[in-house]
Amino acid sequence: MARVATLAVALATFAGCASIADSRALETPEPEVRRVQPQIAHWRTIGESVEGRAIQARTVGHGPLRVFVIGSIHGDEREGRRLVDSLAIMFRDPSYASKATIYMVRDANPDGSARGSRRNARGVDLNRNWPASNFKASPARGSAPLSEPEVRVVADAMTKFDPDLVVVFHSTYRGPFCNYDGPAQRHAKAFVSGASRADRRWRIVPDMGYPTPGSLGSWVGVDRGTPILTVEFDRGQDLASSWLATKRAFESLLVESEVGGRRLSASAPVEASAPSPTPDAQAGASPR
Ligand SMILES: [Zn+2]
Repeated sequence: MARVATLAVALATFAGCASIADSRALETPEPEVRRVQPQIAHWRTIGESVEGRAIQARTVGHGPLRVFVIGSIHGDEREGRRLVDSLAIMFRDPSYASKATIYMVRDANPDGSARGSRRNARGVDLNRNWPASNFKASPARGSAPLSEPEVRVVADAMTKFDPDLVVVFHSTYRGPFCNYDGPAQRHAKAFVSGASRADRRWRIVPDMGYPTPGSLGSWVGVDRGTPILTVEFDRGQDLASSWLATKRAFESLLVESEVGGRRLSASAPVEASAPSPTPDAQAGASPR
């Protein structure tokens, strides 16, 4: 039943987004979507872009695994930011909500999204402006780490949330695949294992093949040691099929989290197959 409802919303979201070129329109849900799921409007503004557009976030679920999701950071990669509403609806289901707390930033680069451009309004690539040890100043990367307001807003939110795992949505014509930084190999395997059940093209790409100084992956994964997945959807793939892969991937991440937590804490009384673990069992499910 829940699966049918989720699919219906995903399709409704798709129908509402297919012809929208300006992502700002996504900040106001289509009437059809609002009728199906009133909670879809529960985004709050956590900061502003260079041009004053809202950067929106919301938290769903209440489980022990803390996941920070960024729907979009490159404005010409719209696939991920079209999925976060569906992800929010998924984690209103108690069977998922009890296992993870998901902090979602819908779009870290609303000015780029409005233009359909990779960079922000000042021409800076927001995935090169993080305070990573490998940051290199340039006009395209910013004059200093955190020089861009969008990056400051998201970095502050992420630091306060203190995630176990960060997942950032991108898209490329070489997709779909999952890249990772930091101790995230098992998370990447779980993500691809799940996504592959919906679309067999999904694979792990451990190295992007080019340097990424000042990237979010460098800061979060390499410098801070927090697992981070860079998820590259197939550019232009239809929303319904990319959502199904994403849903399977997150289901797989939840199972891996429970199994991984038990591996690291052998005494934790966690059953990965239990549909509704007790609060005590949940607390032992994730090595925070
Ligand atoms: Zn990208």
